[in-house]
Amino acid sequence: MMGKDLEQYEIWFVPGSHALYGDVALGHVDEHAREIAAALDGAPEIPVRVVVKPVVISADAIRKVCAEADGTDSCVGVIVWMHTFSPAKNWIAGLGALRKPLLHLHTQYRAELPYGDIDMDYMNLHQSAHGDREFGFIATRMGVARKIVVGHWSEPVTRARIAAWSRAACGWHEAQNLSTVRFGDNMRNVAVTEGNKVGTQMQLGVAVNTHGVGDLVDSIAAVSDAAIDELIADYEASYTLVPALQSGGASRDALREAARIEAGLRSFLETGGYGAFTDTFEDLHGLRQLPGIATQRLMAEGYGFGAEGDWKTAVLLRIMKVMATGLTGGTSFMEDYTYDLAAKPPLILGAHMLEVCPSIASAKPSCEIHPLGIGGKEDPVRLVFDAATGPAIVVAVLDMGERLRFLLNEIDVVAPPRPLPKLPVARALWQPKPDFATACEAWLAAGGPHHTVFTSALDTEAIVDFATIAGVELLRIDERTTIRDFRNELNWNQAYYRLAQGF
Ligand code: MN
Repeated sequence: MMGKDLEQYEIWFVPGSHALYGDVALGHVDEHAREIAAALDGAPEIPVRVVVKPVVISADAIRKVCAEADGTDSCVGVIVWMHTFSPAKNWIAGLGALRKPLLHLHTQYRAELPYGDIDMDYMNLHQSAHGDREFGFIATRMGVARKIVVGHWSEPVTRARIAAWSRAACGWHEAQNLSTVRFGDNMRNVAVTEGNKVGTQMQLGVAVNTHGVGDLVDSIAAVSDAAIDELIADYEASYTLVPALQSGGASRDALREAARIEAGLRSFLETGGYGAFTDTFEDLHGLRQLPGIATQRLMAEGYGFGAEGDWKTAVLLRIMKVMATGLTGGTSFMEDYTYDLAAKPPLILGAHMLEVCPSIASAKPSCEIHPLGIGGKEDPVRLVFDAATGPAIVVAVLDMGERLRFLLNEIDVVAPPRPLPKLPVARALWQPKPDFATACEAWLAAGGPHHTVFTSALDTEAIVDFATIAGVELLRIDERTTIRDFRNELNWNQAYYRLAQGF
């Protein structure tokens, strides 16, 4: 299946030092680094393995461990820590070559200062206060992107920050290996779902290619009755089927067709090694229904998806699905659909024509069939539910022409104040931060699209870390956003990111 076991990935823990300390001190550095790495490795919130490396004391050793990290597929990132002083000219060659995500952990082996016992031996060993400053200088001098985490290594907050970054590093690893398939092209004349596929591959690593929808139709046609029966049994066990879809119901055949589409689509994705896909209701030639429940269930398995040909959102969804592996909460394709401006405060209703992932559902979804009213196909089967309430974020990706931009809004998902008995699609109702007017004004000023990735599993920090690793602009709309500052940030970022690309 598409879910990822993040324990297959490693973060390397590399302590830096210098030969002048002598073997006794270096032995302590090694021992302490092992203890810290083992503690991080055992921390349940960190989903990857943390593997300690020997203390590096020379430019050659540093260059080699960086090259080894780059060449090791299972290594998704490197944590460095300077227990003692590590003259940073020694890091130039290694950092210059390192392509894996980097985290600089600014910690100290002992938390407390032993006032009664402290002597120069202690001072010579517990030097991260200045050793890490030397490292920070060269990393900044070289323009090396990295996350900096400050705090004692035993503290939950320190570990949580490392955990968020390790998830981002797994997302980055996924992006380098991700292949996305488009069935059909973009919805005609829509601008925001377009983009530069070559530029995106250069920036994120992901490959985006196309297949004629007829290739998918062939895969769907090849599905056996037994495979359909198996899926129908799964639907009956997992969802509440409306009477028309139950055995003997008037639309039972449509349910079987939906299952056929699901099995054929999954088989196509598995055969092609695809982790994400798009479709569009404008190009369904030979498909009897727009994939509804099929897409919903494939998302729940971990596939990325974007509707109306939106491959950028499909890519982002897959990356965020991998990052969120094992966390409580869900992650879904989403669209800002309609507002309740009369509510105090105003609310955003997020939904889509069909394709919302049941991983965000508050309760057992209802499996229903309704006309689509667009596209001219047979009525599609879909799962209908309300999203679970609580804090979440929506993240968008847009193409600024010469680069990508990520845009994030922190939101609070609320229960619908009244039932929505006639709305035939899954939905989420939320209050955006800091308030409706500021959030929407900032979103529009940033050029934010209507499609997003919604997640109640990941928090802002993991997305910030991913953007840092990817070198992509991230604009945050949260509790502290003001329009005046946001407008300035847009202008300043525009200048920075243009200059940062060089010529
Ligand atoms: Mn849409």
